[in-house]
Amino acid sequence: MSALDETHDPGRISWVDGAALGSDFPVQNLPLGIFSDGKGQRRPGVAIGDFILDLAATGDLLDESWRNDLAQPVLNAWLARGTDDHRALRQRLFEMLTNERYRDDLEMSLIGQSEVRMHLPCLIGDYSDFYVGIHHATNVGKQFRPDNPLLPNYKYLPIGYHGRASSVRASGEPVVRPNGQRKPPDADAPEYGPSRRLDYELELGLWIGRGNDLGQPIPIAEADEHIAGFCLLNDWSARDLQAWEYQPLGPFLAKNFLTSVSPWVVTAEALAPFRRPMPARPEGDPEPLPYLAGDGGSAALGIELEVTLSTEKMRDAGLAPHRLSRGSAAAAMYWSAAQIVTHHASNGCNLQPGDLIGTGTLSTDSDDGLGSLIEISRGGKRPMALPGGETRSFLEDGDEITLKAWCERDGAVRIGFGECVGRVVAALGA
Ligand code: CA
Repeated sequence: MSALDETHDPGRISWVDGAALGSDFPVQNLPLGIFSDGKGQRRPGVAIGDFILDLAATGDLLDESWRNDLAQPVLNAWLARGTDDHRALRQRLFEMLTNERYRDDLEMSLIGQSEVRMHLPCLIGDYSDFYVGIHHATNVGKQFRPDNPLLPNYKYLPIGYHGRASSVRASGEPVVRPNGQRKPPDADAPEYGPSRRLDYELELGLWIGRGNDLGQPIPIAEADEHIAGFCLLNDWSARDLQAWEYQPLGPFLAKNFLTSVSPWVVTAEALAPFRRPMPARPEGDPEPLPYLAGDGGSAALGIELEVTLSTEKMRDAGLAPHRLSRGSAAAAMYWSAAQIVTHHASNGCNLQPGDLIGTGTLSTDSDDGLGSLIEISRGGKRPMALPGGETRSFLEDGDEITLKAWCERDGAVRIGFGECVGRVVAALGA
């Protein structure tokens, strides 16, 4: 578990313009990402205010033993190093970006974020998606099983499935409406065509740092040391394809046409001030089995989440994006990130540096905290009204979904995740 140190001191500010209070990227954040700017190859940078510090251009200011891993086009090797090096880099960057004496050396290595393209931070070997948002699981379960929304295993283990790593993309990738098989309830046979019930899912992503060997589980007390950082994740979902294909083996083509992630790895160290104990389980719920119990008392993530929608008509009319939901990850997650990792490796499954794990949709128990349209529109039965007079049950071509996240509390500097954006475009052949 990351402890607080001088890098979390709310009294310190960077000499970089725009990195002061209110930015997603003050010096207390320092997320890592992979960028390119037309002048060079993909390479690592750290976000500071509206800029990126090009780590490959910092010369001998960084420890020599780090430089090779911090000059790669992906962060896998760096994330694999584990907590001690991650903390040391954070402390060094904090020192460089808060002390005026480094300004002359570093100013040339700052590039405006608006001038670069962000990429996936890692070469993702494997992607798994969980289902730990208990209110989402209950809301969706009610649509299929009104009397029995949660299946008996839900409170004993974090439910998950193996997703598709090859179709994960950084924020901004167009969302091509998938074609697939769907069977309308009143039809005798399925048909093939563009999904009519395209949805988003508001999730957090975990980036795996140090891996575990095949056959070697990760004890719950060590799980946090394997999580290098977090991002926003949108698990785009075609609900009509999903409803027809999911039995008996679970999600497949309804989910693997695209998954979008925010490009910055917000480190475990940056999140230290925003962790708190997991909420107590409701009375009558089973205690976690011993291998999933006792993960240090600061496992819940005080991360605020927001989703907005803008339609083509709204943009043409100059209307601001419409907020679909606002809520806290801590209020949504029945299982912690550490429990997810420990459960994933509990059978000896080997996680690898750069693996991506989704939490599942993070809905709160409130109507204004629902993380998907299938919940907001009650499965399409209650279309939502939008500014400008349109309505929506599911996404139309031209719709743009933006996920945002940030952390704030008294005594700490607010940090943000940046954005995860995707705009729907027409299906191929449509
Ligand atoms: Ca999902």
